[in-house]
Amino acid sequence: MSEEKKIPYKIYLEENEMPASWYNVRADMKNKPAPLLNPGTLKPLTFEEMRGIFCDELCRQELDDTTAYFEIPEEIRKFYKMYRPSPLVRAYCLEEKLQTPAKIYYKFEGNNTSGSHKLNSAIAQAYYAKKQGLKGVTTETGAGQWGTALSMACAYLGLDCQVYMVKCSYEQKPFRREVMRTYGANVTPSPSNTTEVGRRILEEFPGTTGSLGCAISEAVEAATTQEGYRYVLGSVLTQVLLHQSVIGLEAKAAMDKYGIKPDVIIGCAGGGSNLGGLISPFMGEKLRGEADYRFIAVEPASCPSFTRGKYVYDFCDTGKVCPLAKMYTLGSGFIPAPNHAGGLRYHGMSSVLSQLYADGYMEAVSVEQTSVFKAAEEFARVEGILPAPESSHAIKVAIDEALKCKETGEEKTILFGLTGTGYFDMVAYERYNNGEMTDYIPNDEELAKGLAGVPKFPGNEI
Ligand SMILES: *Cc1c(COP(=O)(O)O)cnc(C)c1O
Repeated sequence: MSEEKKIPYKIYLEENEMPASWYNVRADMKNKPAPLLNPGTLKPLTFEEMRGIFCDELCRQELDDTTAYFEIPEEIRKFYKMYRPSPLVRAYCLEEKLQTPAKIYYKFEGNNTSGSHKLNSAIAQAYYAKKQGLKGVTTETGAGQWGTALSMACAYLGLDCQVYMVKCSYEQKPFRREVMRTYGANVTPSPSNTTEVGRRILEEFPGTTGSLGCAISEAVEAATTQEGYRYVLGSVLTQVLLHQSVIGLEAKAAMDKYGIKPDVIIGCAGGGSNLGGLISPFMGEKLRGEADYRFIAVEPASCPSFTRGKYVYDFCDTGKVCPLAKMYTLGSGFIPAPNHAGGLRYHGMSSVLSQLYADGYMEAVSVEQTSVFKAAEEFARVEGILPAPESSHAIKVAIDEALKCKETGEEKTILFGLTGTGYFDMVAYERYNNGEMTDYIPNDEELAKGLAGVPKFPGNEI
């Protein structure tokens, strides 16, 4: 025990130990993720087609499957230093509470005002837009973390920021909305009548409270119809995983410093950006045959893209204005049951993680929300941090793995991503505390309805 205690509660890197480059795991993948397709021609999306939507440097990053390292520009590193390096925490108190021989570590990304890891990519995307001389960017936000992160990045760089916020969140999370407005963003509830696709969706589904897929359609239209604007996305895309690799690079550097090697690495998976970022450098070692790790993606049982979705080309948005991506998907029309409280509600999954999962490099499990909130409560009470519901999916499975070690007596080292804090999720916590939270697992027929919307073309059968 005394020797073990030499590892501090919190491992911080020095500023000069922070990564100077992002790592692109695609460079080490033998089977590259499938390219985005133009939905009209079904041909891979070219740089020329993409640059109307995303700014040029981000198109290059999106398309680059071979460059292993991208230098992080000085201005982005400067911004990172305001809230990074983020701590790698040894969960001594949780271990003690569980009476497990497992060693549990978490990488905490909630230590900034946006309350999540999303700021890592927001500042990068805003930086490249600014560098290209654009006026502003448009985006969607669901729970609000991404919109907040982007507002912060845009405020810092002096860019205009237009956020389409899923209507039910806009109404349920007025404080999130006000944080964004405080940072100067323009926030519109989606679907709205400010876009053609929004008007079309409102006509077809009057009274709808919106979805992420729908807000994406509106934000893309807003970007492509205004001079000097581009669209940015907070998850799913390969460029976002690239920026988020800073999480894994820091975690690995901190562990290497103390000679710690994780056996299991766990992350929650919505669109896959934090998980992809956390595992990237470790996955790189596994792909190159230098080391072995178990990787576990955790998703909600009410939105089970990996565990029950299909690996096919699908639309990224409800309005079907975006390119097609090959990914594990539940269909772009899939909307989780209204009682689902915990985020991670996107119908698809990163194409990089999808390919790694299809190739057997990664596992996935789905968990029910009451068990997730129970894990969140247990964690909060011993480790102090009030976790975001999304992050709590990873906590739940980390606890499960630690309890398995208790049974077998194995001293495994577990690393999980604690992506953010849950201060804006108190309505969900309230439901849990009142005993009003229920679980809902869609049946096969319900899932079949969503999957029926997957585009049909030769080679893309379900
Ligand atoms: C957005 C978000 C997630 C899920 O997104 P990924 O792209 O899958 O990482 C998880 N946790 C928090 C706190 C988030 O804000």
